[in-house]
Amino acid sequence: MFESLQSRLSDVFGKLTRRGALSEADVQAALREVRVALLEADVALPVVKDFVERVRDKAVGQEVLRSVTPGQQVVKIVNDELVEMLGGAGAQGDSGTGLDLAATPPVPVMLVGLQGSGKTTSCGKIAVRLKDRERKKVLMASLDVRRPAAQQQLAVLGQQAGVATLPIVPGEPPVAIARRAMTTGALEGYDVVLLDTAGRLAIDEALMAEVAEVREAVKPRETLLVADAMTGQDAVNVAQAFNERVGVTGIVLTRVDGDARGGAALSMRAVTGRPIKLLGVGEKLDALEAFHPDRVASRILG
Ligand code: GDP
Repeated sequence: MFESLQSRLSDVFGKLTRRGALSEADVQAALREVRVALLEADVALPVVKDFVERVRDKAVGQEVLRSVTPGQQVVKIVNDELVEMLGGAGAQGDSGTGLDLAATPPVPVMLVGLQGSGKTTSCGKIAVRLKDRERKKVLMASLDVRRPAAQQQLAVLGQQAGVATLPIVPGEPPVAIARRAMTTGALEGYDVVLLDTAGRLAIDEALMAEVAEVREAVKPRETLLVADAMTGQDAVNVAQAFNERVGVTGIVLTRVDGDARGGAALSMRAVTGRPIKLLGVGEKLDALEAFHPDRVASRILG
């Protein structure tokens, strides 16, 4: 991720830091190039505008321009603003999922998103991580009664992952499955219940109503929107729509391994107001990473 943005920015800032003194015009010219680089990385326009403006406000002051290393000061300002844009520093711990599970067990966690976004795979990945790194007893349940193989797919994933799945009862509606998952979770001493909801090819009212109904029934501690990074700004729009309709507590951005531009990753927080919590970086069950704004910013700035 971010390969082209990284090389563009290292050109811009390389030029800037090699100069001794900087004028306001030098900084303005560099920021114009930063603006173009961000737009080419498919970052949402309002996010780019806001970002460049904030950097400009801080960077053209006399204090920066008169300092001994003005170029480096500008890069530091860009770095700090990038961290802000991505969700702020020190948001989460290192090893686990970064999910908020501070509630009486079993803690319901719901995954929502479009079909094919990587919801079911992410459900398995999160379950494995909770089990292995946070020592949680996890139960997974698929609420997807429309796609005939969906519930079976999660059961197979559970077997591979060594994570329990709720037994399938043919014909049971989503809300009833969710309630049964919570009851089973309570009776059998599970810490976390992961609910994998049905997706659609596009956002539609029936999907939103179903998700909203499940949410009402189980009141999830976390509602994670799973979005495909490769779809760029569409992923951001989907996240925004879900957030407005059903409320989202965090985002799982998938297929980051195939996303060279990074526009969704960079715009998501600023547009939706919700943090990216996890990154899907491959098809395997361990291909999941915690999202650290500060690390991502330093990766982008090389
Ligand atoms: P769902 O319809 O949202 O449940 O999507 P699935 O979980 O079935 O995933 C759809 C496809 O995307 C599968 O082939 C997954 O292996 C693949 N996939 C999911 N997450 C990732 C990821 O982070 N990286 C890559 N490369 N593929 C992924």
